Amino acid sequence: MHKELSVIIPIYNEEKNIGPLYERVKKVVGDLSSSHELLFVNDGSRDRSLELIKELARKDDAVRYINFSRNFGHQIAVTAGLDACSGNHIAIIDADLQDPPELIADMRKKMQEGYEVVYARRRKRQGETFLKKYTAKVFYRTLAKITSVNIPLDTGDFRIMDRKIVDVLKHMPEQQKFLRGQIAWAGFRQTYIEYDRDQRHAGETGYTYKKMIRFALDGITGFSNLPLKFATFAGFFVSGVTFLISLYALYARFVSKDYVPGWTSLILAVLFIGGVQLISIGIIGEYISRLSANIRKRPLYIIEDSNIGPEK
Ligand code: UDP
Ligand code: MG
Repeated sequence: MHKELSVIIPIYNEEKNIGPLYERVKKVVGDLSSSHELLFVNDGSRDRSLELIKELARKDDAVRYINFSRNFGHQIAVTAGLDACSGNHIAIIDADLQDPPELIADMRKKMQEGYEVVYARRRKRQGETFLKKYTAKVFYRTLAKITSVNIPLDTGDFRIMDRKIVDVLKHMPEQQKFLRGQIAWAGFRQTYIEYDRDQRHAGETGYTYKKMIRFALDGITGFSNLPLKFATFAGFFVSGVTFLISLYALYARFVSKDYVPGWTSLILAVLFIGGVQLISIGIIGEYISRLSANIRKRPLYIIEDSNIGPEK
């Protein structure tokens, strides 16, 4: 059955947050429309998250859930939610209450001015490490510089959007999801509201640095070919410099004859060229690994169980 409003909530070890989150989201969403669903995607949590979600589902039929067979990652969890949701308007929110659920009402109101996407842009972020905030800041700015798509700065996936956008996303089968980029790519009318990001209500972040780096590389490789071109630029640059050095070497050897056993210059040249080659191969490797993942066409996620029927 189609709903007016769906809220997608990815869950990875959030047992302490599910209760308070449910209360706050339910209140906001209930006031907005009686035709709503809260779609929890349990991304392989190892705590009591799933049990708590199932308990909510027993008490409230607006609670739907999808339970993954293992941890597939935040972007994939949201993607599964997008695939399964039925709302006309779809909101995405983190489970840790860093994104205040009350903003869903403000974003929805803004939508009524004729926007298909309203996202929430972070003015400040509290309770996160300096390193995380700083790397995120640098990342968003670099990404904006090197991509042709206008991916909004300092914006996560906390947003509300129209069904039209979700239909576009469903036709983007790439394996490496960078949803905020894909949504920006889709176009339509998009706008934002600003907010101060709260601290995590409880528990700890599920985004390890390893996951963050992979996510950042997915964003860059998914939306820019500039790094690949860097390999070419670097190749030309190094070849140019090497050409000049060889001219000088020939001159020193045959004309001025003041050559010395040039260990230093030799080792520097070898190291420099070796470095550039390795970087270039690495960049190519990042793209090729993603190409090969897309050619394998494995399903993005495996659902172990769910209370969402096939008919909807
Ligand atoms: N999450 C997930 N799978 C993961 C990591 C995180 O579904 O592998 C969920 C998590 O439960 C939360 C949201 O994604 O609802 C954002 O994660 P988190 O708060 O850990 O990231 P941070 O805010 O620190 O960037
Ligand atoms: Mg968080």
